[in-house]
Amino acid sequence: MFQPVNSKVSFPDLEKRILGLWRDRKIFEKSIEARAASPRYIFYEGPPTANGNPGIHHVLSRVFKDIIPRYKTMKGYCVPRKAGWDTHGLPVELEVEKQLGFTGKAQIEEYGVAKFNALCRESVFKYLKQWDSLTERIGFWLDIDHPYVTLDNTYIESGWWAISQLWNKELIYQGYKVTPHCPRCGTSLSSHEVALGYKDDTVDPSVYVKFKIHSLPEEVAADKSGGFTLADAVARGKVYFLAWTTTPWTLPGNTALALAEDADYAVVSLGDEYLIFAQALIVQAGLGGQPVPKTFKGGRLAGSQYYPLFNPHEFGVERKRAKEGQQGQFDVQEPVKDLTYKIINADFVSMEDGTGIVHIAPAFGEVDFQAGLENNLDFVQQVDLAGNITGSYAFSGKFVKDADADVLADLDRRGLLYKTVKITHTYPFCWRCDAPLVYYAKKTWYIRTSARKDEMIAGNRQINWYPEHIKEGRFGDWLNNNVDWAFSRERYWGTPLIIWMCRKCGKYECPGGLAEIKGKPGLQGYSDGMDLHRPYIDDVTYTCAACGDTMVRQPEVIDCWFDSGAMPFAQWHYPFENRELFKNSFPADYISEAVDQTRGWFYSLHALSTLIFDQPCFKNVICLGHILDAQGEKMSKTRGNVVDPWTVLDSSGADALRWYMFTSGPPGNVRRMSPDMVVEVMRNFLMTLWNTYSFFVIYANIDNFAPGKKTPKITSDLDRWLISSLNQLILDTDRQLGEYDPTGAGRKIESFVNDLSNWYVRRSRRRFWKSQNDDDKLSAYHTLYQALVTLSKLLAPFTPFIAEDIYQNLVRTVDKDAPESVHLAPFPVADEKAIDTDIIAGTELAMKVCSMGRAARSKSQVKVRQPLPAVVVKARSSAERDALNNLCAQILDELNVKGIEFSSEDLQESKALSVSAEGDYQVGVVTELTPELVKEGLAREIVRRLQTMRKTHGLEIADHIRTYYEGGEQVQAVMKDFAEYIKQETLSKEILHKLADPGAYTEKFKLSGLEITLSIKKVD
Ligand SMILES: [Zn+2]
Ligand SMILES: [Zn+2]
Repeated sequence: MFQPVNSKVSFPDLEKRILGLWRDRKIFEKSIEARAASPRYIFYEGPPTANGNPGIHHVLSRVFKDIIPRYKTMKGYCVPRKAGWDTHGLPVELEVEKQLGFTGKAQIEEYGVAKFNALCRESVFKYLKQWDSLTERIGFWLDIDHPYVTLDNTYIESGWWAISQLWNKELIYQGYKVTPHCPRCGTSLSSHEVALGYKDDTVDPSVYVKFKIHSLPEEVAADKSGGFTLADAVARGKVYFLAWTTTPWTLPGNTALALAEDADYAVVSLGDEYLIFAQALIVQAGLGGQPVPKTFKGGRLAGSQYYPLFNPHEFGVERKRAKEGQQGQFDVQEPVKDLTYKIINADFVSMEDGTGIVHIAPAFGEVDFQAGLENNLDFVQQVDLAGNITGSYAFSGKFVKDADADVLADLDRRGLLYKTVKITHTYPFCWRCDAPLVYYAKKTWYIRTSARKDEMIAGNRQINWYPEHIKEGRFGDWLNNNVDWAFSRERYWGTPLIIWMCRKCGKYECPGGLAEIKGKPGLQGYSDGMDLHRPYIDDVTYTCAACGDTMVRQPEVIDCWFDSGAMPFAQWHYPFENRELFKNSFPADYISEAVDQTRGWFYSLHALSTLIFDQPCFKNVICLGHILDAQGEKMSKTRGNVVDPWTVLDSSGADALRWYMFTSGPPGNVRRMSPDMVVEVMRNFLMTLWNTYSFFVIYANIDNFAPGKKTPKITSDLDRWLISSLNQLILDTDRQLGEYDPTGAGRKIESFVNDLSNWYVRRSRRRFWKSQNDDDKLSAYHTLYQALVTLSKLLAPFTPFIAEDIYQNLVRTVDKDAPESVHLAPFPVADEKAIDTDIIAGTELAMKVCSMGRAARSKSQVKVRQPLPAVVVKARSSAERDALNNLCAQILDELNVKGIEFSSEDLQESKALSVSAEGDYQVGVVTELTPELVKEGLAREIVRRLQTMRKTHGLEIADHIRTYYEGGEQVQAVMKDFAEYIKQETLSKEILHKLADPGAYTEKFKLSGLEITLSIKKVD
């Protein structure tokens, strides 16, 4: 006997019961231990940060992380799954700053780095409980008791080892380079971090600025075209270059203007002034129609001199120039009163927008900085690292973006502003704190990833990306455009940069671990077991081997993406421990995260692995799309459309949520979701499965069906079809999961479950209902049992809870030797010999004909229970006709018709024939009735009334009854002619034409105009 199954099920309750079972019997642990000797399948957990509550998008990635390891376990692999926590970095510091009400680094220094970092350490596990319980609740099997944690000393030491490896390969350098800088966080961001924070709706000023010309090249000044020379106008201060910018705050740092060599530059006459800029952009600048007396090629204007908008010497700001051949060093220049700058030619000048004249500020842009080095330009940096204007300008002390308006007002007052409008464009913001980024030239430590670009690109070719387009698209592009990784951060809470420098002679050293540090001469500030974070590590000094002075640590910490990229080895404290373990766990067979990680974790894993181990780090990766709300809007707190995973879990359950995530769209697609959509999944899929399962258990228990006793020979077409489809489903599911396509596999299962319920069970009901326990009935039980047990195993990776519940009841209650859990069972293996493709195709066609036949019936408005003389089918071929003929009994029964006919002609709709058409197919039902058919229709109506009465009266499905009736002649004739049929369908022992005995349940009806009284009474 199976445990009774209630058709009214609460999936959340069921799941909690299953969670208890897994916990009590340590099923997850056993699923790994039991396969200790099996080949390993390596999964890497991309570490989340536990300083915020986990959201619905975390559920998405976590269920995709879960499904493949579960599948691989059932396929016989040992799949360890170590949890991990990302604990360092800006996000953590920002949370603590917010909590302390800080707005900048000065406050942290004042508060004390030790105290600040202690708070950071605390805060990273603030939501650990929530993470752990959500992880368990959604059925993500992960070893949360032994996680790797990036703040652990062992983890940090492995990170140091990695840095020293790069150092020894000369892949680390310090460069004076322009980096995207967050003025609020006071630190550089790497290019992948910048890529996370672009906003395409930023409103900025669009400004046309006049640069007064000091002198033009002689032959330009003397040019007589247009009947005059410019020399006089220049002398009178009436000729300007017109440049364009969207960052007015950079204008005080301007030290050159760049023109395209081959483009035409117009001299536009406006009042008593002349403006020089690109001819192609005259109309766009609003000066169409103005006289253009002269034009010059950009090449001829190179060498012109102009007056700076702001002479830095007048505002207490240094003017510097790069030392020849030394990127990292600048010489301060002597003050010059009549300072002028020059026009240069550059190939980056665009004729698309602006004026074709680019304002160059080498301190504030990568292109500008390079142009500065190439043309030996001045370097004026009138902004500090907090993004505030320095010096004694009218707008000094203001934050750069806030100074824009003052800069413009100043220029306007001096007649140097041609016009200003607003534009909306794309601008990068800090991905964590939302401050506008400033491109800023400063010293930063780099990893020379570009030196290994070709190897990274080659390695990427070995990775299987799902979806595939990421490989050459998003990720491939990212690698093709690779720039060096700016990996130092001028911050506090992170893995400290492991580089020491001699205070006196400037010698650098990069020790590869604690043993090496401990061996340094004159070591101070070090003690065994000390916290390796700042500020403690800052106090560790030793003696310079070269000059005997003191080596001090460089103050920076490193990018937290470096931490997570180091997890393949750092999680094992490699190479200081677990060398063998690491070797056996690298590279990963599988990882999965959202698509934004192409520039985050996917990249840091790939880059470090290529640079240190000369090979890729992962073989297969499912890249997930983002989640939007039901309307396709981004979820956000302000919109109030965030879906709380717990709400969904408490109402629909984890299986429904998982199934939704797997099957609502391919993993890489953007996915809309709302709690209602999950409810729909629960109703459409899980309930269909559950009802089939519950149907089976109810009847199997009535008939004392015991699986495995005797396997009957299959004679029924329905059984043969179901077994064929089931084995085909095993093949498909296995293949698609093997190809990292849970969506394709899940959709196949879903369609199988639909057919199982809506065709197999419906068509087989009578076989289960009939009273004799013959071979046909046994075959039906066996077939349905086999389908449900196999489904539980196929579904185990997808919906682990319901799969376990079905398995426990259908398998474990009858076979104590079976594996203890469905998740310890092997994945089903298809019996390919059992697949009869003809019957699969034939049944599919029969289903199609039936669905079209039902449409034709419903169009004719004949009652469903009224038998009709025939169905007429126009099929595509004689083979199809044969297939339908073979399955004729199912079609007749399904459509409630007496015969099937075939036509090669088109069917004509008429009073006697109702037709439905679909593609090449036409199906019609003949609607003319004989008196016999009318009687039979009446008998069926009576059966339905009696069945409803049985339910109303509270009878069990297997209870037998006695039926009484009263009615006229026609009613009596029907009750007599169809007595056997009515008895069988309603489990009536006898049918009596008389008043009911006391205790019977009675109802009166009017059927097709005939009065009828029916009574039923249970018999023992
Ligand atoms: Zn920031
Ligand atoms: Zn030294």
